[in-house]
Amino acid sequence: MMVQYLEIKGQYPDYLLFYRMGDFYELFFDDAVKAAEALDITLTKRGKHQGDDIPMCGVPVHAADGYLAKLIRKGFRVAVCEQIEDPAEAKKRGSKSVVKRDVVRLVTAGTLTEETLLDARSHNYLAALGRAEGALALAWLDISTGDFCTGPTTILDLEADLARLQPGELLVPETLGAAAELHETFDQWHQALTPLAAARFNSLRGEEVLKRQFAVASLDGFGAFSRAEMAAAGALVAYLDDTQKGVLPRMRPPQRVEAHATVAIDAATRRSLELTRNQQGERGGTLLSCIDRTVTGAGARLLAERLSAPLTDPAAINGRLDAVAWFLERPTVAGRLREALRASPDMERALSRLSVGRGGPRDLLAIAQALAQAADIRQLIAQAAETEPLGAPPIVVKSAAEDLGEHAELVALLAGALIEDPPLIARDGGFVAPGHDARLDELRTLRDKSRQLIAGLQGQYRDHTGVASLKVKHNNVLGYFIEVPQNHGERMLKPPFNEVYIHRQTMAGAVRFNTAELAELDSKIGRAADQALACELQIFEDLSSEVTAHWAGVSLAARALAVLDVSAALADLAAARNWCRPEVDGSLAFEIRAGRHPVVEAAVAAQSQASFVANDCDLGEARRLWLVTGPNMAGKSTFLRQNALIAVLAQMGAYVPAASARLGVVDRLFSRVGASDDLARGRSTFMVEMVETAAILNQATERSLVILDEIGRGTATYDGLSIAWAAVEHLHDVNRSRGLFATHYHELTALAARLGALAPHTMKVKEWQGEVVFLHEVGPGAADRSYGIQVAKLAGLPRSVISRAQAVLEKLETGEQSGAVATLAEDLPLFSAHLKRPAPAPAEKSPVLEALAAVNPDEISAREALELVYRLRGLLGE
Ligand code: ADP
Repeated sequence: MMVQYLEIKGQYPDYLLFYRMGDFYELFFDDAVKAAEALDITLTKRGKHQGDDIPMCGVPVHAADGYLAKLIRKGFRVAVCEQIEDPAEAKKRGSKSVVKRDVVRLVTAGTLTEETLLDARSHNYLAALGRAEGALALAWLDISTGDFCTGPTTILDLEADLARLQPGELLVPETLGAAAELHETFDQWHQALTPLAAARFNSLRGEEVLKRQFAVASLDGFGAFSRAEMAAAGALVAYLDDTQKGVLPRMRPPQRVEAHATVAIDAATRRSLELTRNQQGERGGTLLSCIDRTVTGAGARLLAERLSAPLTDPAAINGRLDAVAWFLERPTVAGRLREALRASPDMERALSRLSVGRGGPRDLLAIAQALAQAADIRQLIAQAAETEPLGAPPIVVKSAAEDLGEHAELVALLAGALIEDPPLIARDGGFVAPGHDARLDELRTLRDKSRQLIAGLQGQYRDHTGVASLKVKHNNVLGYFIEVPQNHGERMLKPPFNEVYIHRQTMAGAVRFNTAELAELDSKIGRAADQALACELQIFEDLSSEVTAHWAGVSLAARALAVLDVSAALADLAAARNWCRPEVDGSLAFEIRAGRHPVVEAAVAAQSQASFVANDCDLGEARRLWLVTGPNMAGKSTFLRQNALIAVLAQMGAYVPAASARLGVVDRLFSRVGASDDLARGRSTFMVEMVETAAILNQATERSLVILDEIGRGTATYDGLSIAWAAVEHLHDVNRSRGLFATHYHELTALAARLGALAPHTMKVKEWQGEVVFLHEVGPGAADRSYGIQVAKLAGLPRSVISRAQAVLEKLETGEQSGAVATLAEDLPLFSAHLKRPAPAPAEKSPVLEALAAVNPDEISAREALELVYRLRGLLGE
């Protein structure tokens, strides 16, 4: 067996080998050590190899999914090796022969289909990066939907493209994996990276693979693919072929996604805006969690996909907005649609499991139910359209309704064939409804009749033996048998009974027998059950192939349900939160009236009585770069982000939190908000800040939207001010992007005199009795100061530090800037003396204080405390 193991393992050195032995998958050697640690299971030993113990661990087959999920999440790949013949067959070759085994599937992060291994609400892409003729391209596939896309990319764009796709697994040619210019990007994806031999990314070979896969003589019909795209797409399909061992999932022909069809948003921007993940990498508090009102898994996945990839084509965006508007104006239709959707199972994923042969009866039923809902929904939309005075619904709704299709026959077939609550796995049997198949019904009747006969036998045997407590029972070892108490058993071992009753087992207190009649019925039942199961499995196969034959139509319907779910969910959101439809066009406008931050608004409403203060933002040509000053906590970051989020929402085709919004499409969105150390990657706050600023200044265009919050804060004042100064000039003169620049450096407002489109704005604050009150209102002008000390006071810095800081500030503000610092430096000794707590004046002895010092407040009761107060007052002599 070890010889066989080592031979198979030798073919999959990079995979953990799950080696099937009976009811377990066993792992050996290093695999066992790694898996035992990752899964927190016991490491044992089995036999010896070259004199050493062989480490071993194992997981039960029935629970393997959970363990697989854990290993994949930890970055392992697993080769599943099954027994591919009956052990009885192997025995025929000799008692010592080993059962034939082979790897039937390679489980990797990008090739999962199982419900238990996937997150129902997010996509799982398998992506590949190809290079040919000096160009780069990506191909990506969602196995669970069969959506297959390719698109060009560049060294500069790759990071944002990957950040958008979030691939579960990324295939790269080994040669590219080592390329220095991509090192940074790959570093962020090292968990997902699968380097493969460069030869597998050959574009000619890729083209052949694709032609074969989609059975066409030329790929031209699908689009004008570049060689790099063919290289990436071909490598991806070939990899699937390897990992799925030939059972390829269904996929649509590759679709080209033009460069810049979606807004480029790099990973840093996504992080800072918390679009789909918050800073901790979770869902809570993100824009997605705030807007997600979808009611199906497929809808949630589509919403996340749209949010990750806002569009740049105004026509496409308006198409989506029309659909949202249509549902918004028809709350009853939308309500009924959502009710129907809520009841419809995840057809997309059921379909994908069936198409790779890993589906079960429940998946068949899911498809029947979802298609039945689809028919109802189609009718619902048709009815709504009929009663319309103005005719047809918008194109997105109309084509979704068409895509729902007519699947009445398939639904009738599946619904008629299956029971209401079928088991997950076909091998469990019992899922085919009575009346569907005459032969199966016959086999079942035979089985049931025999069971009735057996029930009758119990009475007969009782009469015959005179043992009233005699029972006919069943277990897996003996089959059907008779059980009587010990004392009666002894009697039955003798004539005349022993002629009929054949002794099988003597237990503590009971004896078990068999009869020829019972054995005959038992084997009849067994045969019938085996045949019934075989018959059911055949029916399952037939139904599955019927479904996969309709794959294209069914997956279109699944997609259409998701589109309708998203449109109605966004309408529901707009109605509930009073959001408005943005006007999106090809201009360079950015006019938001009374905009709000969707996430902060919800948080503010939840925490306090105060309501969120809405703010306008107009980045029209004459004032395209706003310089926003104001103290910490005044709401600068909130204001900056809310405008970026409004742009994202508008371009994904959603309504926006504002009274009105007009915006010319943004091609790239940059946001650099708040400094955070990236110690894991070995960079200081300042370095991270500068790398990100560099990316922005190098890439932002006139169409871009740039959000910069406190650039230059991470270094000394003058350094920082100079960098911020130069960055503002560059953004204004060279990039010419629409932008919001928040800063502490009021000095920058001086630039407005020279930079025509720079518009200084400030967060309004009021000073009241020495405290600062934030109004969260943005207005033209500049902050006169930072109020840093007031904020520090609110934060609870010791009073001595606050008053000392006030004194230093006054000195700095009155003196010449540099001169003041010099004096301060000279003054240092004086300062530090000053900073010391004034030594308390030697107190006069006070009887009150002495009495107070003598009590331990933790130990006295309320009554004693009251007495103490009287006593102290007495001591004061009042
Ligand atoms: P800054 O960037 O100026 O330090 P933030 O944008 O982080 O300030 O805002 C600080 C807090 O002020 C937020 O967490 C929020 O609670 C509150 N806030 C910000 N903007 C508003 C607003 N427009 N209306 C009401 N509260 C706001």
